[in-house]
Amino acid sequence: MRLFRNRPPDNRPADNHVHTRWSWDTPDASTMRRACERAIAQGLPAIAFTEHLDFTVWHEDDAATSQGLIDRHPAYQRPIDVDGYWAELTECRERFPELRIWSGVETGEPHLFATSVAEHLQDSPVDRVLGSLHSLSLDGQLVGVGRLLYADPDATMRRYLGEVVHMIESSDVFQVLAHVDFPRRYWPGGSEHYVEKDYEEEYRAVFRALAATGRALEVNTSSPLASVDQVRWFHEEGGEAISFGSDAHAPTAVGQRFDLAVDIVETAGFRPGRDRFEFWRR
Ligand SMILES: [Zn+2]
Ligand SMILES: [Zn+2]
Repeated sequence: MRLFRNRPPDNRPADNHVHTRWSWDTPDASTMRRACERAIAQGLPAIAFTEHLDFTVWHEDDAATSQGLIDRHPAYQRPIDVDGYWAELTECRERFPELRIWSGVETGEPHLFATSVAEHLQDSPVDRVLGSLHSLSLDGQLVGVGRLLYADPDATMRRYLGEVVHMIESSDVFQVLAHVDFPRRYWPGGSEHYVEKDYEEEYRAVFRALAATGRALEVNTSSPLASVDQVRWFHEEGGEAISFGSDAHAPTAVGQRFDLAVDIVETAGFRPGRDRFEFWRR
């Protein structure tokens, strides 16, 4: 058996949330090729390149416009170079036939940018669409939640989770809810001071809304890991599907902490899908 000692476990799921240099916040050295090599070394069956789809200029039909939002703060976001993205993805599919490679986007605030997102996807359809809330409105601007937390972490967290419910109920463009409690990454004083249980009712409202649509909850392994309790709340509220996402912005982070995440999700009552490419199921 010594021969196989370093072989990765064969129950590792697909990584449905990976960024590369085609995302505005990811360095040039983070190539798809290196991410694929890492995925194969980790024993992952599949990888999805879900680049950030964020807008700094919006369509007149977007809800962001009708809500009177003027701009973003900060506003470093850049459009995806669709031609470059597809050229590298196609090359990787040829180079790594043993790995299933999905196209994707991580839509930021998709409920505020429905028309802009639809236009992008019409020109460049993808396999995986993640839905993310990174920002909340403040005085006519969309402001990154990390900045809002410092004024009032508790109120910001409750407002955030309430807005996630609204995002789920008013946008059906995404298949997976990414990093449900994104602000905990930036919790004042350190994420270890964040107490999930304080927001149980708010989480449950999110999970009820998501479960009602049959969509998947992501266990995000860049964020501080969800507890078994949190994933179980989703199960208790009728949640059907779980997606695993490293949210890697560097190739070395592809598939990070998936063994821990699998343990958590299994303990909370979910099982692998029919094959290794599917979401996990209740
Ligand atoms: Zn995100
Ligand atoms: Zn991401």
